[in-house]
Amino acid sequence: MNVAVIGKGGREHALVKMLAKSKSVDNIYAIPGNAGMKDICEVMYRVSEKDFDAIAGICIERQVDWVIIGDAEPLSLGLADFLIDEHGLTVFGPRKKEAQMETSKSFTKNLLKKYNIPTADFKVFTDLAEAKSYIEHANPPYVIKKDGLSEGKGVVVVNSKEQALKALDNLYEADDHDDSKMKPLIFEEFLDGEEFSLMVLVNEDYSHTFELIAQDHKSAFGKNEGPNTGGMGAYAPVTHISESIRLETIEKIIKPTVSAMVEEDLNYFGVLYLGAMITEDGVKVLEYNARFGDPEAQVLFSMIESDFACLLEDVKAKKPINIDWKAGYTVGVMLATAGYPYEYKAGIRIDFDDNIMEKSYISGIRQTEDGDYISAGGRIMLVTGSGKTISEALSSAYRTIEEITFDEKDVFYRQDIAHRAILIK
Ligand code: ATP
Repeated sequence: MNVAVIGKGGREHALVKMLAKSKSVDNIYAIPGNAGMKDICEVMYRVSEKDFDAIAGICIERQVDWVIIGDAEPLSLGLADFLIDEHGLTVFGPRKKEAQMETSKSFTKNLLKKYNIPTADFKVFTDLAEAKSYIEHANPPYVIKKDGLSEGKGVVVVNSKEQALKALDNLYEADDHDDSKMKPLIFEEFLDGEEFSLMVLVNEDYSHTFELIAQDHKSAFGKNEGPNTGGMGAYAPVTHISESIRLETIEKIIKPTVSAMVEEDLNYFGVLYLGAMITEDGVKVLEYNARFGDPEAQVLFSMIESDFACLLEDVKAKKPINIDWKAGYTVGVMLATAGYPYEYKAGIRIDFDDNIMEKSYISGIRQTEDGDYISAGGRIMLVTGSGKTISEALSSAYRTIEEITFDEKDVFYRQDIAHRAILIK
């Protein structure tokens, strides 16, 4: 079969790599793809993820059987709706209405509340003055989230009134508002506990939760310091989080969410990403995303041994599936450009060979006409390592980073990926 993957980041690189191993897949088209994919599939660099007509044209001409939409932005713009309704294509990725599970935090929080699914208490504001007055009267820490897609940068957790008011001004300034109206802001109860990520393949009332839990590292710097990012590293499986926690999550969160979506006429088809926290009162939802997590997907997909295209066929037919997972552990460490997630330089030279590309997933790199790799984004590449133990996997990832050449003042990465696993082991 022929598959098109929509997106240009590390998650899509991982999808393409995994599909390339599928015996049932003949051709893969990456739209627009990235420099890491050129040896494994046809990369359509010039086609934007927002050019729906061009994407449909390619899929029809190349007789694409499956379109997998990796990235949230085209989902939020209704690419799935367009390809399904206008062209009868088969798409893995929810329609715009269902993608609200990610694109509107207030929508999801209200749905969770309505169906009593455990999550932090919250209040929604659309008026700046009211939001400020709330801060004046509430106690820290403050958890402030802006509705809409923000690539991991729309959430602020701060400890003082001053910081909260400043964060509010920054979120407000960055907003497309008229007068005092702004995108809804959600103030959440502060939760404390260990976080984890779980992916669920969903087809309306059908769901299959991944057997392996992953853990992301959202803060820019070690010891979870610095601003939130799109993700600075991940590992799987997270064996210090017990199977009973995963099962509790399925029973108390995932199954009720899937039923709630059906009840609300949301015909979800795609992956539902759960970001959750284990609190003293049990597991609670932090967020849902309507696509695979990045960088968790890179780590998880490198451990899937089943034919992924066949799994998708089964999910489409609502057949029970069995995912074969590689034994051991995989760790991924993100190299990022100095300054990220704020302003950063573009065009930083990074040198590495094909052997390293095999163990890496490109997030923001382009290749010059001379064949050099230069950075083209805040997050550059996720370097992975695997091993029988988490320590082995970690050493392997960090050893590989040492083989990559870059100027240390231009690039940074966290030295403490998987610290929870090491600490608790
Ligand atoms: P964006 O919307 O900008 O893409 P995101 O989807 O990554 O961001 P969340 O996962 O909701 O945002 O939050 C990011 C991080 O903020 C979480 O991983 C967690 O560490 C912290 N956080 C979110 N909600 C809470 C909460 N209620 N209590 C404590 N910490 C929280």
